[in-house]
Amino acid sequence: MAKKVSVDDKLGYNVFHTDESYAHIEIDKDYKNEEEIRKVVLACPAGLYKYENGEVTFSHEGCLECGTCRVVSGGKVVKSWNHPYGGAGVTYMQG
Ligand code: SF4
Repeated sequence: MAKKVSVDDKLGYNVFHTDESYAHIEIDKDYKNEEEIRKVVLACPAGLYKYENGEVTFSHEGCLECGTCRVVSGGKVVKSWNHPYGGAGVTYMQG
């Protein structure tokens, strides 16, 4: 029987070329609707959104470029969403 591999382990195979000078996703840090924020926090498969003490934070490093946050947010938490510039971003190693 094949060994089960956790999601975190699978994500660890990916290679990220981080562009520290350009955050390809921008959020509205002043947005306050907790229910809408929690939807985005829960939806991000990479766990890049945090909601603590009534404040949402985000780091674009480690983004899988899946677009889920853009769709779930509906323009409320995510202010702008673009792909990273060429050469930056994720390279999938597990399909
Ligand atoms: S694009 Fe996907 S991985 Fe990147 S921040 Fe949004 S939900 Fe998370």
